[in-house]
Amino acid sequence: MKRNLLIITSLAALLLFLAVQIYMTVSIWKQNEEILMMRYKTLSREGLSLLMSKKKANGFEKAMDVTDKFAGMVASEKLPLLKEAKDSATFRKQVLAQTYSILEKNEGLTAFLRSYFKKAGYDFDFKAEFFIGYFSLISYDGYLDITKVTPPKIPGPMVLVNTFSEEHNNFVIEYSYLINLTHKNNMVFREAFLSFLLIAGSIMIVMTVFWITWRNLMEEKRLSGLKTDFINNMTHELKTPLSTITVAGRTLEKEQILNDPPKVLETAKLIGKQSVHLNQLINTILEVSLLERTEFELTRQPVCVDELTHQVASSFLTSCDGCAVIEEDYKTDGIKASLDILYYTTVINNLLTNAVKYCINDPVIKISTATESSSIVITVADNGIGMAREHLDHIFEKFYRVPHGNIHKTKGLGLGLYYVNRIIRAHGGDISVTSRPGKGTTFIIRIPL
Ligand code: ADP
Repeated sequence: MKRNLLIITSLAALLLFLAVQIYMTVSIWKQNEEILMMRYKTLSREGLSLLMSKKKANGFEKAMDVTDKFAGMVASEKLPLLKEAKDSATFRKQVLAQTYSILEKNEGLTAFLRSYFKKAGYDFDFKAEFFIGYFSLISYDGYLDITKVTPPKIPGPMVLVNTFSEEHNNFVIEYSYLINLTHKNNMVFREAFLSFLLIAGSIMIVMTVFWITWRNLMEEKRLSGLKTDFINNMTHELKTPLSTITVAGRTLEKEQILNDPPKVLETAKLIGKQSVHLNQLINTILEVSLLERTEFELTRQPVCVDELTHQVASSFLTSCDGCAVIEEDYKTDGIKASLDILYYTTVINNLLTNAVKYCINDPVIKISTATESSSIVITVADNGIGMAREHLDHIFEKFYRVPHGNIHKTKGLGLGLYYVNRIIRAHGGDISVTSRPGKGTTFIIRIPL
């Protein structure tokens, strides 16, 4: 509950943090864009006033002369066309387009500003744009407002340098001169690069820390679940022989049994067997807990793998009263490997015990040995219940037990394969597993010679 609350709170905090970072990025971008536009607006206005004060000109003199000639010609020749109402809009459009083109071709402000910016140390690329707000022809017949057609839209945010209003012989005009910063986004990005870098860095750091914490939390959750299972299983495992011993002890206290020596012997044997089992369980737990603190200390000696494996298999069969059929196939030609006999015995015993434990039919176990390049390969295959693929990566982990129906009835602590894996690794080898549910499981051990 507490953990879930922590997860939800930290997720919410992370989302909030990301939202703040995005908001900050957008604000920084907008702010830098505004500053940039403002800077170029001031700069270009300074340039324009310099031109006006020095040369008493605004750079549009030639453009205005040409427009005047054009306007005069149009006003005298084409004005009658307007009387035809249906041609009026097209006519206006043509005149406006022509005026735009005259302005563009004949103005001198752009060239002046370009060199002015360069001198001021701002060597950036820009494009001049015009916007005619009002344009009217003057003729003897009166005024004709050309701008009654929709003026073109100005694309993107631009810097408005100035709006000029002029009256000439043949026309009246109001036009704006704007500059379009061609690489504006690149410029803004360059200006705000350090801020963006810091934001990206902080997002990356927070995300990494969050991911690591999240992973640890999940791992902790998984381990705590496994530990709870382990404690339940261990209690169950220890209780079974203990209660058998208690019941057997009480039976021995009864008077009538004392007169039945075979019964006494049987009960005593039962107590002995259960005590051995209890002892084995406690030893496993102690050994595994010892493993956590110390490394394996192997007492290795050259042993014939085939012979040792056969001995272990035989004594396993004897101790479990022939609980399985073991088919043996040894092919190492009596090769000797450097093994710790006691630990190797534990490995084979554990695998055989599992093969019997996790089998619902009559267990048939195939145990074989072989050599492969410079390793010895021991295979233990059974016809048991098998395992689904998703469990295979976990069965060598401490306390892991496959959680399904009929296994629930099977006792265990989830330590056997963990122990086996550690022993094989201490020998410098490795263990792998293949399994199919309902078909059986095969463990393959490789130990370097
Ligand atoms: P335990 O047997 O005490 O549960 P192990 O570490 O020996 O612990 O095994 C881990 C889990 O792997 C078992 O709980 C079982 O689900 C699965 N397992 C091990 N060996 C076999 C096998 N031969 N066939 C099917 N499942 C197996």
